[in-house]
Amino acid sequence: MDKKKITVTGATGYIASWIVRDLLIDGHEVRITVRDKTRTDKFQHLLDLEKQNSGKLLVFEANLLQEGSYDEAVKGAEYVMHTASPFFLDDKTDPKANLLDPAVNGTRNVIQAVNRSKSVKRVVLTSSLAAIYGDNKEMSDNGIEALDESIWNTTSKLNYNAYSYSKTEAEKAAWAMAEDQSDWDLVTIHPGFVLGPSLTKRKDSTSIGTLIRILSGELKSGSPNLQFIFSDVRDISRGHLLGAFTKEAHGRYILANESGSLLRIAKIISDEYGKRFKVPEKTVPKWLVWLIAPTIGLSRLFIKNNVGYPLSANNKRSINELGMSYTSLKDTVLDHVKQLEADGII
Ligand code: NAP
Repeated sequence: MDKKKITVTGATGYIASWIVRDLLIDGHEVRITVRDKTRTDKFQHLLDLEKQNSGKLLVFEANLLQEGSYDEAVKGAEYVMHTASPFFLDDKTDPKANLLDPAVNGTRNVIQAVNRSKSVKRVVLTSSLAAIYGDNKEMSDNGIEALDESIWNTTSKLNYNAYSYSKTEAEKAAWAMAEDQSDWDLVTIHPGFVLGPSLTKRKDSTSIGTLIRILSGELKSGSPNLQFIFSDVRDISRGHLLGAFTKEAHGRYILANESGSLLRIAKIISDEYGKRFKVPEKTVPKWLVWLIAPTIGLSRLFIKNNVGYPLSANNKRSINELGMSYTSLKDTVLDHVKQLEADGII
């Protein structure tokens, strides 16, 4: 494969670390952005990966909230993979400052750098299934059998599902800027809830933290029947590379596989490990979850609109156009548990 120059934003993150790894293995020049270049502890794993592989790593400092800060990292690159965005589901303090502004203004900043570069041919944006739907009940409300790329999230707001709103608005901003020019094209990647082994011992990334909480016994008295559509972090990385390097790729790609509740994750773990982890064994009735919702940081409206509704997504575009194949949820979960064990986290 030709050696390419690729900028990856948010390289310290759970997903981006895998992307950088895969690009370095393929021998590319990878220009990563981090918030603070002096915090080498956050990207030492990537410096190590550079030593073990043929690719080249260049480190730049950039912040989503700072105009112009991506210019240097993007100048001269042919591809930009924009993954950086705050990912947490429970901001109750200031969702505009903590989620919306970095997601939307950050995307604009990165794309302005792309426009100024005159070298970039394609931008791959890490969007989300959260930009496709807001609440689980929308599928049955709208008579949809499986979510697909034609659907947009129209229900999330700053004061309700703020993370989903931030991802939707960021993606809209990216498409608006893509349509305004003809130097580069845009591909958006839509993972579900991502699990799978992490390349670092980091615990504060939402995906990793969620599995640690399940394993730690936090839900041992039961879990709500809240369905997710899951993705494997290694598949998501591969999907970014396919989205960038498949010439004909265009538009939005759902990269998600199996659906299920947290109880399904728990069952995969207990089938393998028996009673070693205090994972939930039963579902908490919806009325009870509704009752205690405020005490566990969820709104009653969220419980009403989400608990007990099935969820599924159609990933055929990614299979037919990108050649994606998917890891089973069982392998994703067990490989993730093994990594947490090997790294002494659980
Ligand atoms: P993560 O581990 O929390 O990584 C987030 C990255 O964004 C980190 O590198 C973080 O830098 C960076 N970032 C946050 N705020 C920033 C700011 N103001 N300026 C510059 N960088 C900033 O999350 P992840 O799970 O890998 O998610 C990566 C992307 O995938 C996000 O766009 C997320 O919305 C999307 N996504 C994730 C999932 C999932 O289940 N994980 C599902 C769908 C979509 P620091 O290390 O400095 O904090």
